[in-house]
Amino acid sequence: MTMTEQVLAVARAAKGFMPEDEGLALHEAGLDGGRVGPLLEIGSYCGKSAVYLGSAAREAGTVLFTIDHHHGSEENQAGWEHHDTEVVDPRTGRMDTLPFFRRTIEDAGLESAVVAIVGDSPTVGAVWRTPVGFLFIDGGHAEDVAMADYEIWSRHVLANGVLAIHDVFEDPADGGQAPFRVWQRAVAEGFTPISTTGSLRTLRR
Ligand code: SAH
Ligand code: MG
Repeated sequence: MTMTEQVLAVARAAKGFMPEDEGLALHEAGLDGGRVGPLLEIGSYCGKSAVYLGSAAREAGTVLFTIDHHHGSEENQAGWEHHDTEVVDPRTGRMDTLPFFRRTIEDAGLESAVVAIVGDSPTVGAVWRTPVGFLFIDGGHAEDVAMADYEIWSRHVLANGVLAIHDVFEDPADGGQAPFRVWQRAVAEGFTPISTTGSLRTLRR
């Protein structure tokens, strides 16, 4: 089974930063890792990537946990490249992507397979004890934030599990270097590269 046209249409319509070819590769990687254990995503935003991963989790008979404080990364704030004024809560003037996320997952019919954890990644990570079959790192892209996510979460990936990293650009002219450094570190620490699709890289433990 692959993703239905209906579910794909929801992914396409959702706000986010996941081109369809990368989303489909993410779905495949999620199916692969889902055979080993549950899926975990760092960086839910408005749920676009969670649709690709949540449908993989459902197909694999497991669930996707997806963590985000929903107030945006540094690079999503006003004045930065990836800012969207529609996701600002007029009451507080802060970003709040949670309502968008909920609608996306509801529209995709994935509420039974996708569990949102609303909080700061290192705060959740400090008490997390559950091994996972698949980890997707797509949270904050500042060097310290991305590297902290790798340190906190990669230790929970089971043997034969899959690690996916988004926005990996080898050439600084194409984008920020933090995700590429995370990828290099994962390789140095024994993860084996499996695939590259656009800026999405997958590795196996
Ligand atoms: N995966 C999404 C895009 C994620 S954008 C997609 O493909 O559509 C990055 C997200 O990481 C933002 O929503 C931001 O709020 C979140 N984020 C950044 N730093 C975080 C932290 N320390 N804890 C939790 N979430 C964080
Ligand atoms: Mg991304």
